[in-house]
Amino acid sequence: MKVLFYNEYEHERKEGPAREMYPGGIHTVLSEQLKKIDDTLEFSFATLQDHQQVITREKLKETDVLIWWGHMYHHKVDDDVVTMICEAVNEGMGLVVLHSGHESKVFRRLMGTRCGVEWYERQDHGRIWLLDQTHPIVQGVPNPLEIEAEETYAEPFTVPVPDELIGVTWWKGGEIFRGMSVYHRGYGKIFYFHPGHETLPSYYNSGIVKAIDNGIHYVAPRVRVDEVTSHHIEPHEP
Ligand code: ZN
Repeated sequence: MKVLFYNEYEHERKEGPAREMYPGGIHTVLSEQLKKIDDTLEFSFATLQDHQQVITREKLKETDVLIWWGHMYHHKVDDDVVTMICEAVNEGMGLVVLHSGHESKVFRRLMGTRCGVEWYERQDHGRIWLLDQTHPIVQGVPNPLEIEAEETYAEPFTVPVPDELIGVTWWKGGEIFRGMSVYHRGYGKIFYFHPGHETLPSYYNSGIVKAIDNGIHYVAPRVRVDEVTSHHIEPHEP
């Protein structure tokens, strides 16, 4: 399973709580956590700094699943790269969008909506209630999945109605959030999962890591097609 992990990698490079929580970056810590429970994952990485060099058409062709974590600099992600990624998803590549990636250009373009959330940062306790015990993404994940401390993302979340709503998060502050969903676009699948603020320990939470691992496998392509376009054809029966 070839997984390309894009992490903006700006917060954790500067001295402060994000670097203390995720030394080497969220991509380094989370990929190590995932590899501990799944030896089929082969990671490569891209950051804001090098994404134009790393994320090429050739690279996307050989990528099964792209993970996306970004926050402050969505606007600096190259539009041609965004277009290539959206095409790759249409051709069957899987996409896992984490936390503040909900406002990334890639996610917004694939959703076709603003993808805004209501939010506050109080390091609150959250609880993800899993709605379908038969879904592949929740296998081995405790229900409810307790989140020790997170940034609160709340409804209304201005996304299309999810194709598969996997979990709903309850917050201590009284809000709820559809933060665990799957969307189908073209031949591809997209898993959105909300935990992962840069200064909070969610990517050390075994239930969250397990859900991300399941999500990677769930959105991985069964088939990739070369090109999704229109073609002029002759009638099948002459
Ligand atoms: Zn955040």
